[in-house]
Amino acid sequence: MMQVIWRIEAEPKRCAIADQVIAESGLAAESLIVVLDDSDYEDCPNPRYSKDIAWYMNIRSGQLEEMSPEHMLEVMDPQRCDHLIWVSKRVAVGSFSRLVWVLAHELRHLRQEIEYPELSTTNLLIKRLSKQVPLKSKYQFGVPAELDAEWAAYQTVVKILGNDALNAFVTEECQRDEKAEPYYKELFVLLPDYCEDWVQQTKKLLCENRKIFERSCEDNVGTSIDWGKLYGSVE
Ligand SMILES: [Zn+2]
Repeated sequence: MMQVIWRIEAEPKRCAIADQVIAESGLAAESLIVVLDDSDYEDCPNPRYSKDIAWYMNIRSGQLEEMSPEHMLEVMDPQRCDHLIWVSKRVAVGSFSRLVWVLAHELRHLRQEIEYPELSTTNLLIKRLSKQVPLKSKYQFGVPAELDAEWAAYQTVVKILGNDALNAFVTEECQRDEKAEPYYKELFVLLPDYCEDWVQQTKKLLCENRKIFERSCEDNVGTSIDWGKLYGSVE
């Protein structure tokens, strides 16, 4: 069962829009908790709260963030849900377009995890090794799964709020943060050509840089890549 926990006081329209994003994702039947928090945890020593604006976590596979606020530890319980999405206050209370963008992005990571669980650890590895392997971009969407999530975010904003809201969103992001302008400029060059091929892109990247990934797996206990599976399915 899907559950949305609003820790801020949200007007009915905000709640309806969040529900619509979840409905659009096609994941409403999943055992999922979405927390829209009432804090940005600016002083929290855990960067997952103080630096990130939102994230997705697979509770079923054993993911846990021990340095979490009490209310988050309560929901990080495999008895309560399989999947968890956390959204910071600054996004939860922000413009509708930002909320839709960020929520749709995280929901896309949930879909990726459900459809391709074998790629879950490899996405983390690619992020970790982003300076050593040739990615399409220096921004986070250089990781194929991230470009896929940004693509889903873009599509969802246009579908639910329209093109004007999308343009307003980009303008707003650029006003907030000077680094946003080159980010969205490059993203909007890549998006029109994107054909939802992140799985093939990921596998290709892994196979072409196999030695680097193998070395990293050796250095990091608990990370491994099933190469047989990957080679069997790369076109
Ligand atoms: Zn992401």
